[in-house]
Amino acid sequence: MSSVAIIGGGPAGLIAAEQLATTHEVHVYEQGRTLGRKFLVAGEGGLNITNSAEGEEFLQEYGPTPWMRRALEAFGPTELRAWLAGLGVPTYVGSSRRVFPERGIKPAEVLKGITERLKQKGVVVHTDHCFVGFDDEVRPIMEHAGKRSVIDAKSVLFALGGASWPKTGSTGAWTEHFESIGVNTVPFRASNCGVEVDLSDAIRVHAGKPLKNIGVSCGERSVRGEVTITDHGLEGNAIYPVVPSVREALDAGAAEIIIDLKPDLTAEQIDDKLKDAAWKERMAALRLDRPSVALLKTFTPFERYVDGRTMAQDVKQVRIPVTGLRPIEEAISTVGGIALDQIAPDGSLVMHPHLFVAGEMLDWDAPTGGFLLQGVFSTGRMAADAIAKR
Ligand SMILES: Cc1cc2nc3c(=O)[nH]c(=O)nc-3n(C[C@H](O)[C@H](O)[C@H](O)COP(=O)(O)OP(=O)(O)OC[C@H]3O[C@@H](n4cnc5c(N)ncnc54)[C@H](O)[C@@H]3O)c2cc1C
Repeated sequence: MSSVAIIGGGPAGLIAAEQLATTHEVHVYEQGRTLGRKFLVAGEGGLNITNSAEGEEFLQEYGPTPWMRRALEAFGPTELRAWLAGLGVPTYVGSSRRVFPERGIKPAEVLKGITERLKQKGVVVHTDHCFVGFDDEVRPIMEHAGKRSVIDAKSVLFALGGASWPKTGSTGAWTEHFESIGVNTVPFRASNCGVEVDLSDAIRVHAGKPLKNIGVSCGERSVRGEVTITDHGLEGNAIYPVVPSVREALDAGAAEIIIDLKPDLTAEQIDDKLKDAAWKERMAALRLDRPSVALLKTFTPFERYVDGRTMAQDVKQVRIPVTGLRPIEEAISTVGGIALDQIAPDGSLVMHPHLFVAGEMLDWDAPTGGFLLQGVFSTGRMAADAIAKR
């Protein structure tokens, strides 16, 4: 049996280990004391493990990257759900097509299901082992208890994660090692994160309060959902999907998001509701809550707001300038990492075909809603299949 080394004990590394253990001697190296720490964090707010959207609607969430599309077509939500069921983790489709472990199954139990299976299959797990660089033969050097050693395996899979929530072990500190062997990396940036907005005190008093069922758009991207006012700006499931457009606009010089406070009503329908309402009753006529009114008042030019004749349009287009994205440390995920043009179709590195890469350490992006973990599992599985074929 030839041996495979997998460095990084998150979901991408673990699914690959499970797959390869049928045919190979598998060693998993993880710098932390335990496996899957970010996976457990992801589960704190409900472990949204994949999404049941189908076909192009599903694939478009990952952009046009052919490599990612191949991985998702080979091992998509149906296959992931079947794999989890095989580990004793049945799943169900919740709201907005999000897929979760059956009610009552905790994230720690999902992780245990995976690690128990690895144990049964004889996978050797080496915790407290940190990847610290490559030797002259491009073999990974590991550090454990102050001592360094080289991994001499025919194939090595790296699944080192992105750079958000560094306390989970996903620090992104490894990019310099790949640069040192000629592999290009892209600087990490926050994704699926809050946006920074200069908020007046009139809005900040509503920090922590959600604006429910609103529309948010930036550039070409429009979404419906919930936004929470924070001390620094706005965040929530209707903000995360527009972050790539916000990032692009910030890079170009200036960004704004547009909030539709009444996405179920047309401007004409709003006008209709306003026409008989006295000035003081206008907000009540539209059933706008206080945080929504504070946003509307702050971001509508004063004269226009007082004049009131354009209120219907203004309610549907609250234009909010964004000054930046929240720091990487707080983000749910990152873009950046190994540049996609460095990766061969099978998930190996073009320059070093014995090294494979998978998961969030690569420069792809997807919104929350289960798309992240699906992409991570799919690329881990694709790399494992390619290693097995070799
Ligand atoms: C708050 C939060 C909520 C989230 N919620 C969801 C959700 O509901 N749905 C969803 O799809 N996704 C969610 N995610 C994202 C998801 O958790 C990640 O995309 C996923 O964990 C990435 O998997 P990975 O295996 O690529 O990397 P990681 O899970 O980051 O694992 C990488 C591993 O590599 C190890 N490592 C790093 N460097 C070294 C080194 N030098 N040597 C040895 N080991 C190393 C790390 O310690 C880590 O254990 C969430 C993330 C966060 C932070």
